[in-house]
Amino acid sequence: MEEVSGRGMSPENINFDSVPYIKTEVMKDYDPEVYKKAEEVLRAGGLVAFPTETVYGLGGDGLNPSASMKIYAAKGRPSDNPLIVHIGKIEQLRDLVAEVPESAKKLMDRFWPGPLTIIFKKSPQVPYETTGGLETVAIRMPSHPVANKLLSESLVPVAAPSANLSGRPSPTSPHHVIEDLSGRIDLIIDGGDVEIGLESTIVDVTGECPMILRPGFITEEMLEDLLGEIKIDPAILKKPQKDFHPKAPGMKYKHYAPKADLTLFSGDKDEVVSHINALVKEAEAMGKKVGILATKETEGLYQSGEVLSLGEREDEKSISHNLYRMLRRCDEDGLDVVYGEVFYQHDLGLAIMNRLSKAAGYQIIDLKKPE
Ligand code: AMP
Ligand code: MG
Repeated sequence: MEEVSGRGMSPENINFDSVPYIKTEVMKDYDPEVYKKAEEVLRAGGLVAFPTETVYGLGGDGLNPSASMKIYAAKGRPSDNPLIVHIGKIEQLRDLVAEVPESAKKLMDRFWPGPLTIIFKKSPQVPYETTGGLETVAIRMPSHPVANKLLSESLVPVAAPSANLSGRPSPTSPHHVIEDLSGRIDLIIDGGDVEIGLESTIVDVTGECPMILRPGFITEEMLEDLLGEIKIDPAILKKPQKDFHPKAPGMKYKHYAPKADLTLFSGDKDEVVSHINALVKEAEAMGKKVGILATKETEGLYQSGEVLSLGEREDEKSISHNLYRMLRRCDEDGLDVVYGEVFYQHDLGLAIMNRLSKAAGYQIIDLKKPE
């Protein structure tokens, strides 16, 4: 994947604080006027936040360079971090991609509409402002009924990253979007809480072997079943190093982190619980406000601190659904220190641990290892 420089894409070229105030309208998804209004905003080069099955997206016309630049500015996002283009109908691909490999056809057949983003070689129409200067473009067809109706009725290819301020957890409810982007975008479509709660799986099919660039609800196992061999970008669970070049540029940025100092512990369940209990006592004795990211299975075992239960270990979907909401709660409740448990790194657990490890700045302590 070639990175193109010298196109004015560097983060320094955008002044994130200079976003003009815009009156943000919030409309319910069942408002009869909402789709007409959203299309008007998109066609005029404005920005609309809308629900998808993964997280809320912040959309602009992906073929309009100035709309893409507005997205970066509204989010405070570095502009070398490319946007995902969302479509409602398969015919829209024609204008966006240079070719459709066999593996992509299989993926689209099986998983679209759904939480899967595919990287293609871009067509000349797609501006570098949308692809962060890359020769490739990320495309997804979401299944959420509101996203799907907006995209297939307007037929605008909508460039949409997650609708949060850069560095904050992705929004899983309309309140998160209002909190982060009110006054910076034109319209928010309120479609209630989203279901999955973690961003889409990203698969790159431009190389010889398909590669997962970001884990998500569509798991490695599901992709392997369909395509046979599939690689995983080794950068997915590693702490970013100086020369760190993940294939999805966005994966190198600090993300999802609560303001509190978050540390995760792995090991035997009882050992983790008693270790965290001891640390909570110590931190509280020092006057700190302490939180614990627990699960249904352990929430009753913590003796003090604010216990935030992510869901049931046996039901990974419940964990992914709640994770970002709970990371935001850490900020809302003014926690100074948070301790958490780890999850298995397969199936949906890989996506959960990818986000959680980043949130913890890779501070993960294995209690089984001798110090
Ligand atoms: P977000 O939309 O906020 O979930 O972020 C989009 C993610 O997709 C980021 O991690 C980007 O780096 C990644 N992405 C978008 N376009 C491409 C591309 N052409 N090649 C590789 N990764 C991409
Ligand atoms: Mg994002």
